[in-house]
Amino acid sequence: MSSKNSPMPNYAYFNGDFVPLSEAKISILTPAFLYGTSLFEGIRAYWLPETKQLCVFRMEEHYERLLTNSRIFHLLPKNLTVDSLCDITIRLLEMNQLQEDTYIRPTLYQAGDAITPNFNVLDADLCIWTRGLGQYLDISKGLKVCVSNWRRSADNAIPARAKAGGAYMNTALAVSDARKAGFDDAIFLTQEGTVSEGSAMNLFLVKDGKLHTPSKTEDILEGITRETLITLAREEFGIETFERTIDRTELYHADEAFFCGTGAQVAPITEIDHRPVGTGKTGELTQRIQNLYFEVVKNKIDKYNSWCRLTQPLDAPTHAQV
Ligand code: PMP
Repeated sequence: MSSKNSPMPNYAYFNGDFVPLSEAKISILTPAFLYGTSLFEGIRAYWLPETKQLCVFRMEEHYERLLTNSRIFHLLPKNLTVDSLCDITIRLLEMNQLQEDTYIRPTLYQAGDAITPNFNVLDADLCIWTRGLGQYLDISKGLKVCVSNWRRSADNAIPARAKAGGAYMNTALAVSDARKAGFDDAIFLTQEGTVSEGSAMNLFLVKDGKLHTPSKTEDILEGITRETLITLAREEFGIETFERTIDRTELYHADEAFFCGTGAQVAPITEIDHRPVGTGKTGELTQRIQNLYFEVVKNKIDKYNSWCRLTQPLDAPTHAQV
């Protein structure tokens, strides 16, 4: 788990403290382990070699989403605020001194030893770990994907909006079957049969120069990258995104398609169910959006620097030490 450039030990935030990752252990009686009763976030920090800093992208929005989702499940430890979570995360990154693109995984989980899966037995805890992460999906080439025959879990069953640990059984089913069948990933349909999202990313289509993406009521995670790209397309390219219900066959009509997410970033799709998307090559607008996204997440565009939170430069005397 530790990255090649990171000094050992790697620290985690666990039980209200910063501890070596090897000491951050939970009991096998933990309800979150038994029942998947947890909520999590995936946040990226980009390494800026020129200034020797990590640039954490839209951290506040990730923690706002975590805290908002915790209301669905009554799963919120006392005294946690967006500000306190951001401060803990920055401190952890500065302690771990990773010098590469980094993934941050905060998890709010049901601790204790309650035997019944019941959120009223409140014993919520928070842990955070970090690790180096390059590509989650290969974004250098177009992805070949399928429509999964597993349907997205419905809002009235396990809400996809919540980013709940247990919900990723649904993701794992779709990904494993897609990979076994030779595809790179999968697209979920809703229970009603309309397009939802990728296994762990949101989906955009380009048709006649316009962007289309399933609306928030299509059992999707309300992705922060999705919202980022909608904003960037409007502000920088003057292109509006239609957030709407999308039929399956619209996938086969699309001129371009791409996945997006914190892990996936902007990942071109060139084939769906053995049908080429448009020309069968990475689309022109997709490429422009991907290029712009990487400028923005690396704090290269002043207009968006409020989305970027920087750690102390690695050589700075004030750099956090333990
Ligand atoms: N959908 C699902 C199911 C996901 O797991 C993710 C990754 N967090 C996304 C969409 C993309 O969300 P975000 O852009 O906030 O990372």
